[in-house]
Amino acid sequence: MNDLGKKKRVFRRLAGTGIIVLCLFLLAAGFWWDVEASTLDVCLVHRLTGLDCPGCGMTRAFHCLLHLRIADALDYNVFSPVVFLLIAALIVTIEADLLLDKKLFQHVPPWPLVALLAALLVFGVVRNIPIEPFTYLHT
Ligand SMILES: [Zn+2]
Repeated sequence: MNDLGKKKRVFRRLAGTGIIVLCLFLLAAGFWWDVEASTLDVCLVHRLTGLDCPGCGMTRAFHCLLHLRIADALDYNVFSPVVFLLIAALIVTIEADLLLDKKLFQHVPPWPLVALLAALLVFGVVRNIPIEPFTYLHT
């Protein structure tokens, strides 16, 4: 392996390690920061319009998922378990590539992601309809 190849490999290992450290930090922060007690509204859509976007409630839902409170997580955002698992799969895929030089999920068709994005868009509209049962989808 030439010098450039070695430098590239070292950079990939450092990037992979950095991502792991960042993820561990975010998991620890998400676990110990009681975001449910916070009044901080980080959603720009919600702050500007008063409407819930498809991601509203996701931070509180992730906090609940980290504490294995699945029902509470679903109450904040019904898509949170799916998004949580997708993010975990994405991180595993990136880490396998950077640290192990393994290409995972190379032949995954794009339609599941497109279907999820379409479902999130519909969810973003439906959860703002001020009629029961849609009001249960509010955060
Ligand atoms: Zn939002």
